[in-house]
Amino acid sequence: MNCPDCGEPAEATDRYCENCGGSLQLRRTPSGGPIGRVGGAGCVGCGGAVSSDGYCETCGRAQPTGRDRMEFDLELVAGVSDRGRSRARNEDSMAFGVVGPVDAPQAVVTVVCDGVGSTERADSASQAAVDAAIEAIVDALLSGSSPRSATDDGAAAAYESVGELARPNSPDTAPSCTLVSAVVTQSEITVGWIGDSRAYWVSSSPDVPSRRLTTDDTLVAQLVAAGMDEAEASASLNAHALARWVGADAEQAPPHVVVIQPEAPGRLLLCSDGLWNYLPDAESLAARVSDAEPLKVAAELTSIANELGGHDNITVVVIPWEGRVP
Ligand SMILES: [Zn+2]
Ligand SMILES: [Zn+2]
Repeated sequence: MNCPDCGEPAEATDRYCENCGGSLQLRRTPSGGPIGRVGGAGCVGCGGAVSSDGYCETCGRAQPTGRDRMEFDLELVAGVSDRGRSRARNEDSMAFGVVGPVDAPQAVVTVVCDGVGSTERADSASQAAVDAAIEAIVDALLSGSSPRSATDDGAAAAYESVGELARPNSPDTAPSCTLVSAVVTQSEITVGWIGDSRAYWVSSSPDVPSRRLTTDDTLVAQLVAAGMDEAEASASLNAHALARWVGADAEQAPPHVVVIQPEAPGRLLLCSDGLWNYLPDAESLAARVSDAEPLKVAAELTSIANELGGHDNITVVVIPWEGRVP
C-alpha cells in the first residue's frame, strides 16, 4: 500500500507513515471542528467590533461561525450539523472516522454530542467530547480492545476532557453535553450513549422493522419507565431535563451500551434532539430516509427538521450497513 497523504510506500500493518507521519489506519473528520468565523471583520447585524469569543461588542449578537453548518463525508459515513433556525449558535458536534487500511477498512467510528444550552461554552464541551471520545475509541480498537470496551473508553475520555473545561469558581455552569457513539464493523454495531441524543436502525428490508436503539436519559423517560403515562410525564415540571450528561458536575458512570447484528442491510443513524423532536418514532423517521448516499440523506433529514421549525441545533450522521458477515 501507499500512504494516502504523501504517496510513499508503507507496510499495511504500520500505524503511521514513516515519511510524513500521517495515520495509515485512520481517516477522520478534522479534530477541533471548523475554526474561525464566517464573513468579514464587523458584526453581521450592526457592523460593530466583534470580540474574540464571537459576540458583537455593540449589540451583543452572536456571529456566524464555521460551526453553523458542518458537512463531512468519508463515503462509508457522512454527517451534517446545522445551527437550525432559532438558536444563536450550533452547540452540537460530530466526529467520525474509518479505522484500518484504506483498501480494507475494519470499522467506522462515530460520535455525536449535543452541548447543554443552559451551560456556558456548550459548543466547546461538545467539540471536546467528540474529539476525546473518537480518539479513545480508535486507540482502543487499534490496541485490540473489543468495540464494547472501546465504547466505555470513549465515554470516560469525554468525561475527562469536558471536565477540564469547568471553571472552579462557577461549578453550576460547568460546560456539559450529551454523547452517543457507534462502532460499526462487518459483524456487529455497538452503540453507547449518555443523555438524550439517539441512534436509530433504519432498515432497508421490508421483513425487518426500523427501530430506535437508545433510551433517553431524561426525567420524562424515567417517569414513563416507572409506569407514568407519557402525556402526564411530559407535562410535569422539568420532565425534559436530562437525567445523565457529560460534564464536571455529572456523576461519572459507564455509558449505556447496546450491540446489534442486523440480519438485513440498512443504515445506522445517530442524531441530536434537533432532529428527533420532529420525528421521534422510528417508522416515521425511516419513512423520510431516501435511498441516496449518506451525505444526501443527512442533508435531507436536516432540511426536514428546519422546515418543521428548526427550533434546536440539528445533527445527523448516517452509516450504511450491508448486513452481517458471518
Ligand atoms: Zn505519508
Ligand atoms: Zn452588532
